[in-house]
Amino acid sequence: MKWSVSDSSEWKLCPRKFYYKKVLGYEPLETPKHFVLGNQYDSLLEFWDKHGYEKAVAQIPAIFTEDHDAEDAKLILSVFNKKFKDEPLPPVKDGNQVGFGIERNGIRVTGYLDKLTQKEISGESQFVVVERKTTSDPIEETSVYWDRLDLDPQIRCYVSFLKSKGWPSGWVCYEVIRKLSSNYHASLSNKYSIPIDQYRSLLSQLKLNKTLVARKWIYVSQEMVDEFDAEHFQTYQMFNVVKENLAKEEESRERDFVKHEKSCNAFGKCDFLEVCKKQCRLGDLNKFKKGEPRFPIA
Ligand code: SF4
Repeated sequence: MKWSVSDSSEWKLCPRKFYYKKVLGYEPLETPKHFVLGNQYDSLLEFWDKHGYEKAVAQIPAIFTEDHDAEDAKLILSVFNKKFKDEPLPPVKDGNQVGFGIERNGIRVTGYLDKLTQKEISGESQFVVVERKTTSDPIEETSVYWDRLDLDPQIRCYVSFLKSKGWPSGWVCYEVIRKLSSNYHASLSNKYSIPIDQYRSLLSQLKLNKTLVARKWIYVSQEMVDEFDAEHFQTYQMFNVVKENLAKEEESRERDFVKHEKSCNAFGKCDFLEVCKKQCRLGDLNKFKKGEPRFPIA
């Protein structure tokens, strides 16, 4: 059985959504906007890695389909280039993503690294995972955003994979873009009573007073890798128990959910309360289509 590191993360965020999506096979009708933007910035930075700043700027209209996203991308890329042009992290492989699979406790853990690079650290050439993120949260050095990333199970899995190959590794470099969401523009243009288009162009001229791009280096110890292995396996076991119990009741299940004060309160009574950490991500399944389930009921 394959159980990817993102399966674990998605299950923990909202077990009910995971069940709808991966066991019953419902998918959102449209790819969520934040996901599309994340992929667009991945492509842009991959292009910057390979061909440099000028060519990456010329590529922006081909990558970003919406004009205002392309405008933002120009601004962000210029800040990124200024900050990191003297510290390139070239990929060890052409085409940044690196797929992997490792065997842990009888399950196959699979996933993709955004990028793998090599760097001299403490006199030794190390394999470093570059993990790219886009966020609308503040990414100043003291922001709570970084505390959340320290706990990210994905990076532990990546390091576990590299160590399983016998490669010297332990370092992860987060490369983070603070995307300028429409809400962000709208709220500030509102605050300063400037029409949104004018606000956008002003923003580009001023180059903002905020951190738009950042890198953060994190060391992942063997202890953190072991914690990941144990937790990943537990999540998998929990999913299997819940899935089996729910599959037994599937025929008689109540479809018309009513509000329930102990649930996330947005989507009513939920079968998953016992295993829920209340970080609901059900929203983008509001408009769904039926697709192929990843873990169908046998
Ligand atoms: S209570 Fe809300 S967040 Fe928790 S599993 Fe149910 S729908 Fe998801």
